[in-house]
Amino acid sequence: MKRKLVVGNWKMNGDRARNSALLDQFLGAMPAGVDVAVCPPFAYLSQVGEILSGSAVVLGAQDVSEFHDGAYTGDVSVTMLADWGVRLVIVGHSERRALHGESDTVVARKAAAALDGGIVPIVCIGETLAERESGVTEQVLLRQLDALAANLSPELLQRIVLAYEPVWAIGTGRAATVEQVQAVLGFVRRWLARHLSAPERIRILYGGSVKPETANGLFGLPDADGGLIGGASLDAQSFLEICRAAT
Ligand code: 13P
Repeated sequence: MKRKLVVGNWKMNGDRARNSALLDQFLGAMPAGVDVAVCPPFAYLSQVGEILSGSAVVLGAQDVSEFHDGAYTGDVSVTMLADWGVRLVIVGHSERRALHGESDTVVARKAAAALDGGIVPIVCIGETLAERESGVTEQVLLRQLDALAANLSPELLQRIVLAYEPVWAIGTGRAATVEQVQAVLGFVRRWLARHLSAPERIRILYGGSVKPETANGLFGLPDADGGLIGGASLDAQSFLEICRAAT
């Protein structure tokens, strides 16, 4: 069985003092047998990278430019992330799709840029509540996934991580049920099987209100390979418990 991956997405939270207190507490008790990454805001990549050095926790980022360099004010390239020691990057988070207008194609190009620079993209996909309620969940996921296949060769596609994050479950305290999650993860795995020779090797994470109490059930699903954790990753104790559930 592949090791599970648990990723903390800090979003736009933290400051120097809180980052260091959180990581000290976390690193002191970090369980073995699970891959763990944290994705702080760009401003703290350097600080967090230093704290993590020598530990097993991987440094991740929350976004990357699709471009290599140039006149893109405010953006950060994959080469810059690599310079900071970043090894994973979230792309296509629903907050970026919704608040920054990132299209499926832009997200796919960002994933390609990350891979080109040697960084593994965690590509987020997921439907809104309105989409789920109108019965188009699979169409939406298919559109998001097909954009990846259109922009990445099978060799590159084989190296990504996927994260299913239903938008209605993010930050709402309302995690999807295990049945809802497995139905989608199974659908995603079947899509992968149509494009790749080793679909089982791709890690598919679930994200959306994962808490210590729900982590066991979610991580026990046949197609769940870990989690993308928002709010609960800002509390060392909760994040530790979620990581333990993935061992
Ligand atoms: P919450 O765990 O706070 O719901 O956030 C999930 C998420 O968006 C992780 O990327």
